[in-house]
Amino acid sequence: MAPATNGRVIFNEVPEEPGKTLVYDESEKIDADTVSLDGGFLVKTLGLSVDPYMRGRMRNPEVKSYSSAYTLGQPITGFGVGVVVRSESSEVKVGDHVYGLLKYQQYDVYKSTEGLRILDNKYNLPWSYFVGVAGMPGQTAYMAWKEYSSAKAGEVAFVSGGAGPVGSFVIQLAKAQGLKVIASAGSEEKVEFMKSLGADVAFNYKTTNTLETLQANGPIDVFWDNVGGETLEAALTAANIHARFIECGMISGYNSPNPPPIRNLMQVVAKNISIFGFIVSRLFHKYLEAFYEEVPKLVSEGKLKYKEQVYDGLEQVGQAVLEVQQGKNYGKAVIRVAKE
Ligand code: NAP
Repeated sequence: MAPATNGRVIFNEVPEEPGKTLVYDESEKIDADTVSLDGGFLVKTLGLSVDPYMRGRMRNPEVKSYSSAYTLGQPITGFGVGVVVRSESSEVKVGDHVYGLLKYQQYDVYKSTEGLRILDNKYNLPWSYFVGVAGMPGQTAYMAWKEYSSAKAGEVAFVSGGAGPVGSFVIQLAKAQGLKVIASAGSEEKVEFMKSLGADVAFNYKTTNTLETLQANGPIDVFWDNVGGETLEAALTAANIHARFIECGMISGYNSPNPPPIRNLMQVVAKNISIFGFIVSRLFHKYLEAFYEEVPKLVSEGKLKYKEQVYDGLEQVGQAVLEVQQGKNYGKAVIRVAKE
């Protein structure tokens, strides 16, 4: 086969202006039939995830954080699924599907399977589901809810960011355990979706007062926080004694160098509130195998509902990253790079 374009998404600039940060580049060529594998294997990328945390990786590398900064001029990385199209490795064979941190490009050669999982798709889910409900966002909901919620039937949960892949999973976990669920998101369409998942009270935080809604339907025993900021303040004010706050994310501050402070933290003292921050990978040792046993099956049986927003082609990555930050995605944002 003649060399073909190996399209890539390059980190071009620390974000100042949308459209310039990530650029789609076609300068690299690859011949998939002859590229040297050197004992490794060649992966064709099928689907890639667009997640809120990627915004934090678009920073000056001198700023330390839990995830590494993207390198200027190099392809970005993130969670993806690909298929092995050639292999000289004893670890994988042609046709295996792998999941893990991939480069956002069409093809890449891997030396080993370190950091990759060979997927067992026994329920025949769409491969893209393995970056969503059956991937990192699903793991986040499943693992941290089990670890930190101490949920009891009859309690009240509040889920902010309830229409995304993490929040929508949490709503279903809380309902399955017999909690009353209050959930918020930023559009009427998302409110309807959260209701369809079983949320007892679902509201649009852009048009409805969060504190009043929580006070009318609370007090809150478990708060799953995807948003931070004013929503967290409202949840603190509306919390019950001994409430558990699961701090999953604070997207309301991801695009601001100086997010406003939380002004009512004294509520933590007054109400004996427990606050759990976490990074999902630190829970893998405890829950990863159970997750893969349970979750794909539940999805295949229709017992766990899930929604995707598919963007076609690597050219769309920059736009998708922006839309996730703006809340314009409706469902888990995934990039379809190629068919099998
Ligand atoms: P997502 O819901 O697909 O996308 C993010 C959503 O956040 C947007 O669609 C938007 O929806 C909402 N949002 C954006 N700006 C907001 C603002 N100023 N105020 C309120 N909502 C805002 O994301 P996801 O993948 O499910 O992730 C949800 C959260 O989990 C994020 O905070 C993410 O960082 C966090 N997370 C944490 C871990 C961990 O290990 N701790 C792992 C994965 C994800 P609306 O229309 O509702 O505004």
